[in-house]
Amino acid sequence: KTKGSNNHAKTRLLKAKTYGRIRNQRRDMAYKLASKVAGENQAVALETLNVKGLARTRMAKSLLDANWTRIIDRIQQLGVQYGRTVKRIDRWYPSSQICSQCGRRDGRKPLDIREWECPQCGIRLDRDWNAALNILDAAGLAESLNARGGDVRRRLAQTGRNADAREAGTRRTARLH
Ligand SMILES: [Zn+2]
Repeated sequence: KTKGSNNHAKTRLLKAKTYGRIRNQRRDMAYKLASKVAGENQAVALETLNVKGLARTRMAKSLLDANWTRIIDRIQQLGVQYGRTVKRIDRWYPSSQICSQCGRRDGRKPLDIREWECPQCGIRLDRDWNAALNILDAAGLAESLNARGGDVRRRLAQTGRNADAREAGTRRTARLH
């Protein structure tokens, strides 16, 4: 497709259309997710990710593909509109280093470690669900969980692990100690 030819112009147009469509789909997905989160929850706690910093790492593609900044901004907008409590926690808060059950801090873990056993209290923790509980705590939104007793927390800390394992049909496990 020589530059300046009809075919060249057609291809360029097609490319632009395709990218436009992908962009629209991403925006649509971000809006739907934000609307679900803000619509179904009275309170939302968000971790302040260092998006610019992460965009310079090997996480960049998944992060930018996921439209993270747009999703978070939209959750905040809708949260105001719907009268939700939306809290953001410090970007330096080590949500994946702390055991959500006993508070032990046992350091950074490589990203491929999706679950581990707390060396202090022995509970098996799912990386994402454990971090989510810690974020709730940090945002001061965990009182209702505490009021329902330790068992709720315990099950939540492990929920994702079980669901993920069912979904993937595999168990990604590692011991850190
Ligand atoms: Zn623990």
